[in-house]
Amino acid sequence: MNQQTRDFGGLSPVKIISQNRQTLAMRVTPAGIEVLIPADLDADSPRVQAFVKAGLQKLKPPRPVAPSHRLRPEDLKALVAAWSERIGVKIKRVQVRAMRNKWASCSTNGTLTLSTDLKELPIDLVDYVICHELVHLRVPDHGKGFRALMSCYMSDWEEREHRLARWIASAAKRLTGTKTTISTKAEMV
Ligand SMILES: [Zn+2]
Repeated sequence: MNQQTRDFGGLSPVKIISQNRQTLAMRVTPAGIEVLIPADLDADSPRVQAFVKAGLQKLKPPRPVAPSHRLRPEDLKALVAAWSERIGVKIKRVQVRAMRNKWASCSTNGTLTLSTDLKELPIDLVDYVICHELVHLRVPDHGKGFRALMSCYMSDWEEREHRLARWIASAAKRLTGTKTTISTKAEMV
């Protein structure tokens, strides 16, 4: 048995243990995370790296929610102004009001409506919602072009989207309506 440790940016290094086995496995022990790999695999091989990264992602608890309660409508408007300049789109008016099924919507005349429920979200998810909505002014659907633009403006947007979905599931009761993640068709602008 050969044992090595590698740092994956978590709290403690990951122990990688080569064994006479066929498959890769990850286990969480009181001493930390251990990954078991077949003896003929290199601990630094892409397969092991990908396996560990995917496993760590699954283990990750949702980040502590830092609600953006102190976000006032004018703060939301400032965020919109910053994002619209960055993305190169024009927003004529921003309104903040209760919306039952959406976080945000944008009309063809340039009015962006934001849900008052946004103040419940951690601020980086508010950022995500605004960026998502404004990118729709350039690409109306969620196809390749949309994804490429999102990646340009927010490299971790997919992670935020997943976190938003988890967040909605855990906070559904506190919201004024049934929110879905904004990436579903129903939530499109
Ligand atoms: Zn969308």
